[in-house]
Amino acid sequence: MQTQLLDAKEPESIRKAARILQNGGLVGIPTETVYGLAANALNGAAVAGIFTAKSRPMDNPLIVHISQFDQIDGLVREVPDAARKLAERFWPGPLTIILPKGNCIPDEVSAGLDTVAIRFPSHPVAQAVIDAAGVPLAAPSANLSGHPSPTTAAHVMDDMDGRIEAVLDGGPCAVGVESTVVTLAAEPPRLLRPGGVTLEQLREVLGDVEMDQAVLNPLPEGQQAASPGMKYKHYSPKANVVILDGSLEHYIDYVNTHAKPGVAALCYNGENDALSVPAICYGGERDCGEQARELFDALRELDDVLHAETVYARCPEPKGVGLAVYNRLIRAAGFEVISLG
Ligand code: AMP
Ligand code: MG
Repeated sequence: MQTQLLDAKEPESIRKAARILQNGGLVGIPTETVYGLAANALNGAAVAGIFTAKSRPMDNPLIVHISQFDQIDGLVREVPDAARKLAERFWPGPLTIILPKGNCIPDEVSAGLDTVAIRFPSHPVAQAVIDAAGVPLAAPSANLSGHPSPTTAAHVMDDMDGRIEAVLDGGPCAVGVESTVVTLAAEPPRLLRPGGVTLEQLREVLGDVEMDQAVLNPLPEGQQAASPGMKYKHYSPKANVVILDGSLEHYIDYVNTHAKPGVAALCYNGENDALSVPAICYGGERDCGEQARELFDALRELDDVLHAETVYARCPEPKGVGLAVYNRLIRAAGFEVISLG
C-alpha cells in the first residue's frame, strides 16, 4: 500500500482523509497530544485494522475522539455530572474520560471491557477531520506498538509508511505526550495515565482523585492492569535507557566516569557541554512543558542519529506535567533508576 502524505493546510486533504475514513481506511492525524492513527470508531472491521497496522495487542482498548460535546451521547451509557464538569473545564483538550460504554461501541474499540475512553481534542485539524468524516474516530498513537509515540508527521511515516492509506501533516504536536486518562467508572475517580491535564488540575474540579499505582510503578506479576496499556513496555527506543536520579553535578560525574563507545546522554538544555559522551537535550530543566514536547523526538534521535546502546537520562521532577514526562521516561527505561544520593 502506498501511504499518501497530505498537507493539512489544504482543504482538499481534509476531504480526502474523511473519505478514506468513511470507507473503512486508516489515516494518521495530528492532535495536540501526539499523532493518532484514526479509523471510524463505529466500524469494528476498520478499527481491527488499527491493531494490525500498529501490531498492537488486541486487549489494549482505544480512545474514541469526538468534535462536539453532544457527540458523547450514545457512546456512553450516561453522562454523569463529574464528566460534564471535566468537559466544561478541559475539553477540547488533552484529557480522556473513561465511562461505562454505550451499545454502539464495537468490542474492537473497548477490547471487551464494559467501559469506553472518550476525548474531545483541541487540534483544529483533528476536529476538522472528525467533522468531515461525520463519525467519531478511534485513534491510538500512530506508532508501531512499543515505539515512542509520534509527535511529527515524519515520525508517523517512519513507523507507518506502507501500512496505512494516508498521513495528514499538521506540524509538530503542542503537548507532545499522550492525553491524561481518568476513569469515572471508579469511586473515587482514578488517574490511569498522567498527561497535559495535571493531577492537581483534576483534583481542583473533582476533589478526591486517586493516582493508580501503575503510574509510577511496574505492575506486580499476575496483577490485572486498570488500564491495559500500562502493562506493556512502552515508549522504548532500542537503546537501554537508565535514569540517573540526583543533582546535575552527580549526573555529570557519573556519566563521564562511565563514558565509552555506545554510551549517550539524555539531558536538559545546555548540560551537554559538560559531558564527554554524545548527548540529546530534551528541554529546559525547569520547563516540563518543553520536556513533554521534546521527549519522544529525543528518544527516536538516540536510536536513529546517535545509535546509542546505553543512555543515561536526567530524572524529571514528577509534578504537574513533569509527572507525565517521568511516567513515559521510566517506562522507556524499563523502571531502571539509579539513585546518585
Ligand atoms: P493510546 O491510544 O495509544 O494513547 O492508548 C490509550 C490508553 O488508554 C491505553 O493505555 C489504554 O489501555 C487506555 N484505555 C483506553 N480505553 C480504556 C478503558 N476503557 N479502560 C481503561 N483504560 C483504557
Ligand atoms: Mg500509544
